[in-house]
Amino acid sequence: MGLIQLTAYVAGAQHPGPTPISSGHFVIDNRSNATPGELNAFLKVLNSAWDGVAHRLGKEPPSTIQVVLEEGRGVTNSRNGLLTFYRANDLRDYFVAPPHELVHLTTGYVSDHHIEEGLAVWIAHALEPLETRLFPQFAQSLDAWVTLYLENGTLLPLRRALRDPLDFDINGSVGDTTAWQTYTEMGSFLAWMADARGMDAVWKLWKRGTDERPPTIADDDEHEWLEAVKAKRLSPKPCIVALGRPVASSSEGRLRLYCALVDLRSPSPRPEEECAAVPTVMHSPLSSQGLSGTSGWLLSGS
Ligand SMILES: [Zn+2]
Repeated sequence: MGLIQLTAYVAGAQHPGPTPISSGHFVIDNRSNATPGELNAFLKVLNSAWDGVAHRLGKEPPSTIQVVLEEGRGVTNSRNGLLTFYRANDLRDYFVAPPHELVHLTTGYVSDHHIEEGLAVWIAHALEPLETRLFPQFAQSLDAWVTLYLENGTLLPLRRALRDPLDFDINGSVGDTTAWQTYTEMGSFLAWMADARGMDAVWKLWKRGTDERPPTIADDDEHEWLEAVKAKRLSPKPCIVALGRPVASSSEGRLRLYCALVDLRSPSPRPEEECAAVPTVMHSPLSSQGLSGTSGWLLSGS
């Protein structure tokens, strides 16, 4: 990593604009109050993620990437070839989301969204397997989550997961839980596919999807993937334990809903945690579990 270069961004002789800071593959347009030390650390994270994604994916991200760092909170995203991060996200997205977003920039997000997100989830997980803050796996591996779904009978068949919209809702909902679950399942499935069938098979599947049409996943592949996960004999943490520590308390209600829907062994909520904002469509015996807080927890966007 080279030294940070400070480059004056001159919009006009008398009206100099913000000062982009660049290193390696990234140019940060810093619109936040980040210190030079923070920016330097962030550039190192970004460049390390670039190398990791290129290696794991077998394709290089764009050689120069513009990054905007905003001060407030928001959804990290890679829209229009621009990466946007938010400094106030308790550093969660700021330091763990780059690999995910770089995968999107590398593929161009032209395939089916479930496949695109699965690719990003898998690569980010492969690069940071122990990262407990990383969405969507948090404190345990993608395969551990799939094992948990299998043990509870709550696994979404891939055919259904590919059909359902990725309907995130920061206040929590059944669709929001399905979207989170789909991310974990697709990440686990694509990791298996790369291992068992090779990257060529992954890219073939990716090419068969479009942004309006998911590809078909062969039943044999789904079956073999699940058998491979079972053969690992993992002991997943209970959902409430896995999601309990690493996440902001403001998102607790949303995450408890995740657990109520996928882990039927989750403990009952304390009475004071129940509130009126309970979704009406629930599948779990713990359907009285309320959304006790609005979420400040942010998702990696597309
Ligand atoms: Zn994404």
